[in-house]
Amino acid sequence: MRPKKSKWLDANIQAIDKLTPQTWKFTIEFEDDFEFISGQFITIKLRGIQRSYSIASFSKNKKTLELIIVKVEGGQLTTILFSDVEPGEKIEVKGPVGHFVMPEDLDRDFLFICTGTGLAPFKSFLDEMQITEKFPKRTYLIFGTRTQEDLLFFNEMKALVDEIPNFSYTPVLSRENWDGAKGYVHEHYEKIVKNDNLKNPLFYICGWRNMILDARKNIKALGYDSQDIKLEIFD
Ligand SMILES: Cc1cc2nc3c(=O)[nH]c(=O)nc-3n(C[C@H](O)[C@H](O)[C@H](O)COP(=O)(O)OP(=O)(O)OC[C@H]3O[C@@H](n4cnc5c(N)ncnc54)[C@H](O)[C@@H]3O)c2cc1C
Repeated sequence: MRPKKSKWLDANIQAIDKLTPQTWKFTIEFEDDFEFISGQFITIKLRGIQRSYSIASFSKNKKTLELIIVKVEGGQLTTILFSDVEPGEKIEVKGPVGHFVMPEDLDRDFLFICTGTGLAPFKSFLDEMQITEKFPKRTYLIFGTRTQEDLLFFNEMKALVDEIPNFSYTPVLSRENWDGAKGYVHEHYEKIVKNDNLKNPLFYICGWRNMILDARKNIKALGYDSQDIKLEIFD
């Protein structure tokens, strides 16, 4: 049987929270429960403009979900979202779609590699793990950004280290000296691969094209197959 073609659903922007000056969280509210698998994305239509966004949440409340969106200089939709939208604005939503999801078998190690708002699907995975209490063997999150100001959900992620068994969180800053990891994400997952004797690892990489393609090349060079590397490219 063919999958049902998804149609546009009415929704509204329930809340807007400024995570950083350039990255805001938009809470979307539906009229009925909206079912999705963590890691999937939706397409939103606002004032005739359509763009896709990974779902950045997972909760028992199926009537709302969260998106984390970065302002793109001169970007058509984000310029509107960051200057001319108030809570209550009506939007339409299509989806969910996407295969950037967790497998049934969690008896392996998972490496989540991202930069900026590429954190979105991983936030959804981690929220789901907390709710269902189903955890992979080990979960690594390597999150790259520029400065401490850009560290999305920093306190939430640090708190998860105590709540999710065998969860390791490595925020990496490329433009600021600090106590934590510095440079780019690549050297940090390479270190984990070389030192941690990983069990049948599955790599998830999300964000902007250049970082993703570099990471895939590096991970293949470390001896892993394409089938163990999942990609979600935003641009
Ligand atoms: C599956 C999927 C999931 C996505 N999830 C997210 C998400 O969770 N959060 C999020 O912020 N975005 C996400 N995006 C990107 C999003 O769909 C838009 O492309 C983005 O918000 C820019 O839209 P815009 O209309 O403002 O810019 P546009 O007018 O469409 O773009 C202007 C130009 O900027 C480029 N561009 C777009 N984004 C960036 C960027 N960040 N840095 C540099 N150049 C860029 C475009 O390629 C284009 O050339 C996702 C994209 C896809 C395909």
